Amino acid sequence: MKKSTGVFRCIDELGRIVIPKSMRNKLGINSGDSLEFRIEEDCIIISPDKSRCAFCGGTDGLCSFKGKSLCDRCITELSEIKN
Ligand SMILES: [Zn+2]
Repeated sequence: MKKSTGVFRCIDELGRIVIPKSMRNKLGINSGDSLEFRIEEDCIIISPDKSRCAFCGGTDGLCSFKGKSLCDRCITELSEIKN
C-alpha cells in the first residue's frame, strides 16, 4: 500500500471540503476558478479546469501558457497592456 504524504481535511455534511491554501497557491487556484473532478481507481482527482480560460472562463481559441489555458481574447488584451 502506498504511504500517504498528503494533508487531511474533513468533509462537511454538504460534501464540502477546504483545499489547503498552500496547495491552491502552488497551483494558482483562486476563488471562482473552475476545477475538474474525476475518479481514478479509488481516488478523487481535483485539478484546474484547463478546458476554460484561466482569466475569463471562455473556451474559444485556447492556448496553453505556463500550465494555464488562455483564450484568444485575453491573449490579445494582455498584449495590448504592454503596448
Ligand atoms: Zn479569456
